[in-house]
Amino acid sequence: MSTPPPASPSQFPRGPYSAQGGPAFPHQPPAPYPASPYPPQPYAGAAPMGGPPALGCEVCGAGPSAPVTVRGHQGIIVIMRFLRRKGAFCRTCGLAVFRQMQADTLLQGWWGPLSAIITPITLLMNLGALSTVRRIPQPRVPGWRPPLDPGKPVMKRPAGLIVTVPLAVVAVALVAVPVLFVIGLVAGDGRPEPLTVGSCARNDGSWSDQDLKTVSCGSSDAQFRVTEPPEAGCPTGDFLAGPEYSEDQATTLCLHPLER
Ligand SMILES: [Zn+2]
Repeated sequence: MSTPPPASPSQFPRGPYSAQGGPAFPHQPPAPYPASPYPPQPYAGAAPMGGPPALGCEVCGAGPSAPVTVRGHQGIIVIMRFLRRKGAFCRTCGLAVFRQMQADTLLQGWWGPLSAIITPITLLMNLGALSTVRRIPQPRVPGWRPPLDPGKPVMKRPAGLIVTVPLAVVAVALVAVPVLFVIGLVAGDGRPEPLTVGSCARNDGSWSDQDLKTVSCGSSDAQFRVTEPPEAGCPTGDFLAGPEYSEDQATTLCLHPLER
């Protein structure tokens, strides 16, 4: 028995698939295509596995993204829920989150006394979030899943209709309160209705702070007959009407108590 001789390379002619030596097909130029058909990307946004999560959209992974906080409110009589969605969103997902929470708040926010105040504040704060979202550039780096569907703008959803009623109420209140205030000032500033001699009056105030009104002499409300003051002044037993109740605002009319 003799040991077989060690295999020498010469026993295995170099085939086309040999691992040794130069190119398998020396007559062919190296392949012109690079290893990956995809151009190298900065990959700033996508972080599929343990990458830096702050840079990509936390929903879809697309970039660029920005930190956005969208708020929501639910109010039912005395029960209130304050909702908050905070995260790094791409433009598309941020818009979707904003529209969803804004529409939900429009529907669910109003139905309590405090909530009716908190809801418009929440909606206004979300407009700030919306402006942040609108400053995010369109996604350049694709994510690992499609972004959220932004859907229709809030005011084109059914929820948009419901805002018109409270907003109209708020608008009317904002306009009506100052108007009523001014009307009240004007009315309160006006001189009282003057008393005429021969008519009857009643005093709804005190004598130091008179509130004299003309009433029908036949009615049970009548307390005094208004008389012209004589030269010597009102007769004993008569009361004196403030001069602001006379036609010329200078004469002190006499108020003669009516016999009952
Ligand atoms: Zn996204």
